Amino acid sequence: MTNLPNCPNCNSEYTYEDGILLICPECALEWTADPEVVEDEKIVKDANGNVLHDGDTVTLIKDLKVKGSSTPLKVGTKVKNIRLVDGDHDIDCKIDGFGAMQLKSEFVKKV
Ligand SMILES: [Zn+2]
Repeated sequence: MTNLPNCPNCNSEYTYEDGILLICPECALEWTADPEVVEDEKIVKDANGNVLHDGDTVTLIKDLKVKGSSTPLKVGTKVKNIRLVDGDHDIDCKIDGFGAMQLKSEFVKKV
């Protein structure tokens, strides 16, 4: 006998392992039993320590140089509908007049 957990969906006891996945043959649910496999949701905070979410609107707290542009992004520039991404620059966004770019969360604050 294995000691795999029952299916969290239909409570079937006929679950089986496939790599890191557990699979229920009765309702076809697939899930991971090992909590370490589940990726932690990354928490991105603005300059004031507020947690940012996808879709938030932020403003810049300092002028930022833009690669390939002679015009800097000005402090106070509003950035709508941000998207959080992994990496050194953790905010993906589009800014009117500049187009798509990536920002660092430490240089913005939530509106
Ligand atoms: Zn099931």
